[in-house]
Amino acid sequence: MSNVNEAAGSKFNMLGFLEKVADYTKEAVSAAKYLVDGLGVTFDHMRRRPVTVQYPYEKLIPSERYRGRIHYEFDKCIACEVCVRVCPINLPVVDWVMNKETKKKELRNYSIDFGACIFCGNCVEYCPTNCLSMTEEYELAAFDRHSLNYDNVALGRLPTSVTSDPSVRPLRELAYLPDGIMDPHELPAKQKRAGKLPSQIIKELQVKKSQEDEDNNSSEMVPNNLNSTN
Ligand code: SF4
Ligand code: SF4
Repeated sequence: MSNVNEAAGSKFNMLGFLEKVADYTKEAVSAAKYLVDGLGVTFDHMRRRPVTVQYPYEKLIPSERYRGRIHYEFDKCIACEVCVRVCPINLPVVDWVMNKETKKKELRNYSIDFGACIFCGNCVEYCPTNCLSMTEEYELAAFDRHSLNYDNVALGRLPTSVTSDPSVRPLRELAYLPDGIMDPHELPAKQKRAGKLPSQIIKELQVKKSQEDEDNNSSEMVPNNLNSTN
């Protein structure tokens, strides 16, 4: 009887051991799978092309409808305060007094705090005299939050343009990608860096134009030659 119990006990031990081995193998396989998945992402990044902009030596040219720092023209403003009413946070401060003699508003000051502005563009849209406009200026970082409160003088300053700054190399967004590809990660690994720099595009246009000029000149010369043979 005791021999039968011992045999049954050893059988259970063996089964338990085999179950443990099976579990361990399963875990090892799934761990290896996760490892391969992770390495797959890593190796996938190795064949992707860099899309880094060497800021501040290179800067992306903002899109035409970019909503950057607001420009304000004091002379055009009629102090109607529409911009204040349409602003989600009633942000613009229009400082005016009523001239009792002329019975007209006299504008004293105008300010927008870019520390609170959400650049929604409502004020620009609804201003009846178009004295507000959104510029492409996006570098508004400051050490003091209060210095982001622009008065009419600061708001009247013309924006700095990426393309007119000689110390900056302007880059068009995704300028280095071939036609039709919007995601740099989709490019085949062996494809050489496609797209052209603005300087290359200008050079090509110049070559093309000079070729066209040459063609035009030669076509003008042909009738002359014909005339001379007649
Ligand atoms: S852009 Fe929007 S949040 Fe900023 S001042 Fe104009 S309306 Fe207000
Ligand atoms: S809506 Fe235009 S004109 Fe009227 S107060 Fe504002 S900025 Fe001036």
